[in-house]
Amino acid sequence: MSSMPLISIEPPAALFPRAARVAPEGRLRDSHGRAITDLRISITDRCNYKCVYCRTGEEGVLFSELPMADYLRMIRAFVAVGIEKIRLTGGEPLLRKGLVEMVEELGAMRTTYLPGGERIADESAEALSRPLDIALTTNGHLLESMAQPLKDAGLTRVTVSMDAVDSETFTRITRVPRSFDRVLAGIRAAREAGLGPVKVNCVLLRGFNDEQIELFAEFSRREQVIVRFIEWMPLEEPSSAPDARNWKPETVVTMDEIVTRLNAWRPLVDLAPNAASETARRFTFDDGLGEIGIIAPVSRPFCGHCSRVRLTSDGKIRTCLFSQTDHDLYGVLRRGGSDADLETYIRKVVMKKEARHHIGEADFLKPSRNMVHIGG
Ligand code: SAM
Repeated sequence: MSSMPLISIEPPAALFPRAARVAPEGRLRDSHGRAITDLRISITDRCNYKCVYCRTGEEGVLFSELPMADYLRMIRAFVAVGIEKIRLTGGEPLLRKGLVEMVEELGAMRTTYLPGGERIADESAEALSRPLDIALTTNGHLLESMAQPLKDAGLTRVTVSMDAVDSETFTRITRVPRSFDRVLAGIRAAREAGLGPVKVNCVLLRGFNDEQIELFAEFSRREQVIVRFIEWMPLEEPSSAPDARNWKPETVVTMDEIVTRLNAWRPLVDLAPNAASETARRFTFDDGLGEIGIIAPVSRPFCGHCSRVRLTSDGKIRTCLFSQTDHDLYGVLRRGGSDADLETYIRKVVMKKEARHHIGEADFLKPSRNMVHIGG
């Protein structure tokens, strides 16, 4: 057999750059060793819905909102220490003027952290940098006309909150007439705009909207959206009104119950998690049509791999949904702090991130803010 000449093919330099020099301090971590990569930021405390399990309907705005430029400056500081996913929320984020322009600015930001958490500290940073994942959580009421502009501006994903798939129940929950058709149109517009796969989040309350479970399964299959059921957490505005929905453990519809109900409707098939920090357990059905996620912070807490930190509309960092305190990042900015000051403050605060929440335990204390004023 004649020997073939060996041909050495050099990979193009741009695809395989030489090893980059990395900075000594890596990505943001808390004192429990968790990498913090996700920032949820509320850009307004205002909301146009009064969902019964979230708001009393009597309280309005409690906290201020800041100029978009100030949010962007604080976000840049978070990105500089390793945040790579930004979720815009509220209140209701679509109420905020300048949202599309803000998304455009976010679209231009890059992370210079490698997937392993090291920060590139030499001239290869630009070539190796990656865009951020930019998501939005909305009630969808104003989404129909905004989906395409948001997509064009660089939004990656959208999650729409929707707690019923029939108009009458939906209005009973949101306390806004004719809201269902608008949200449905918003979901469809988001899908058409390519903001998919659109996620639809549903919070179930026993004896109130739990008859919707199977209807949501049908909805996922029909509308090609990912439906995610989220266990109700004790984060509502407390009320003494006769129709008030104050949190009780027995009102929570748990993951196990949802799985049992769906399985009886049509066999579920497990799907692998998308990432290690995935909060949802994922399923499809036996014919592969539809996708269901179940997020169970109450019955199956996932604090051990929490990767989140939150910034409220008034510029306070919250290290956990159930924190008793918040940390005034905006105060650092307002007092003339430099970018380095903001970054140092963020690193220091994140070290205080709580190990876990204590829902259902004797020592549980409701947090100092409710969900709508934190940013879900
Ligand atoms: N207005 C936007 C919306 O409706 O998606 C963003 C803010 S809203 C507070 C964010 C999400 O929090 C919604 O999906 C809502 O259903 C959820 N939420 C509100 N209160 C909750 C609670 N006590 N437990 C679990 N989820 C809750």
